[in-house]
Amino acid sequence: MSDHDFDLFVIGAGSGGVRAARTAAQHGKRVAIAEDRHLGGTCVNVGCVPKKLYSYAAHFSDAFHDSAGFGWQFEQAPTFHWPTLRDNKTREIERLNGIYEKLLVNAGVELIRGRAQIVDAHGIEINGQRYSAERILIATGGQPWIPEFEGRDHLLDSDRIFNLERFPKRFLVMGGGYIAVEFASIFNGLGAETHLVYRGPLFLRGFDYEIREFTRDEMLKKGVNLHFETTIDQVEARDNVYDVTLSNGKTLEVDVVLGATGRRPRFEGLGLENVEVEFETNGKLRVDDRYQTATPSILALGDITEGPELTPVALEDAMRLVELHFGSGEAEPIDYDSVATAVFCHPNIGTVGLSEEEAREQHEQIRVYTTNFRPMRHTLSGSDERCLMKLIVDDYSDRVLGAHMVGEEAGELIQGLAIAVRAGLTKHDFDATVGVHPTSAEEFVTLRQVTRT
Ligand code: NDP
Repeated sequence: MSDHDFDLFVIGAGSGGVRAARTAAQHGKRVAIAEDRHLGGTCVNVGCVPKKLYSYAAHFSDAFHDSAGFGWQFEQAPTFHWPTLRDNKTREIERLNGIYEKLLVNAGVELIRGRAQIVDAHGIEINGQRYSAERILIATGGQPWIPEFEGRDHLLDSDRIFNLERFPKRFLVMGGGYIAVEFASIFNGLGAETHLVYRGPLFLRGFDYEIREFTRDEMLKKGVNLHFETTIDQVEARDNVYDVTLSNGKTLEVDVVLGATGRRPRFEGLGLENVEVEFETNGKLRVDDRYQTATPSILALGDITEGPELTPVALEDAMRLVELHFGSGEAEPIDYDSVATAVFCHPNIGTVGLSEEEAREQHEQIRVYTTNFRPMRHTLSGSDERCLMKLIVDDYSDRVLGAHMVGEEAGELIQGLAIAVRAGLTKHDFDATVGVHPTSAEEFVTLRQVTRT
């Protein structure tokens, strides 16, 4: 046992930090974790969890509409009460905060409330108290970032959008990534007049192009106003109303403007200047394959390091880190190529592996299989929502390189396909799998006709 107060001192009780702390403690290590805000980090408090709850809420408007064709009748049109949703969400998050605390305490982790500063390779100061640790893990995560322009201070970011006092009748979001499309779908579904303003020709850069086009068309059908190749020149406030002047000369009057233009690592006050660390060109902390910074006793994981900014990736990082430093000393590297992801816009996107564009770059010959259909549910609902599914196959090996979907529950469905893509299964394996009937998912094993090569 070392002379230090702790074997591991974790800074930041988000998804990655909590998992690393608990798992190290389960290995019999003396662990502390410092947190100056809410337990559970972005995901639990201002990210995945409240977003998904709001996304469920927004889906009801379609469900009410769709139900008529199935015989349901309402005496009155349903109305939406924002404070009920907001406050129920808050109660659920408080419950989760409590669970996180219990998990830490039961694992024997010392939870220290306050903002920790690194003072040297093994030293941390918090609330005026000094501690030493064999290893320090930085798991501080990211924070929303919005570029400078006139009136930028009138924008809310994704940390502040969840607890609005009043529901915005008119909502505008700037950006074209995950958060922008998800919140555009949420506020549109909840009944707000919704605008999405994105600087490029088509949102969700980096996703499969056909998936992006299909998502655009579905969101337009649902009534989201998409302003592409457009930026915000200025935002002016006028009695709780905002006039947003766009680069195309239009001015939109809205009640809330959300900035969803990416996130940056949260490093302020952390004391990084007191130790030797190196940064990637994008400002993230550089770590080696053992999560060590240039100061080997200082480790880092999650959104502040390279790799996808996703909760399951931070959790996987945490498990590997503990195995490497406090377990067997060996851990399989994360296979980033088969990390599946979902965008909870309406309808959802689920995606794993290569996009068609990436596959064409990396493989000599590919086969693309697509199907674009009206889901069975909508034969009676009257909704014009459609579903797109797509498989990308390496022609030489027959291996499925990518699977993509836009449609109801795509987020749920893609997880199973991620196992197949990660396992390197072939199109023949997909074809030899008997479908589950009647589902949308069975289309993935009945795609016989090549769409293009
Ligand atoms: P993203 O990085 O996904 O998207 C940022 C968007 O902002 C892009 O469309 C980008 O445009 C645009 N942008 C960047 N800089 C500017 C600028 N100066 N002016 C105008 N537009 C700009 O970030 P998000 O904030 O949406 O989300 C952060 C991360 O959180 C995501 O990358 C994802 O990893 C994670 N997340 C995951 C979710 C999930 O798993 N469902 C849900 C929400 C977040 P361009 O593409 O042209 O660069």
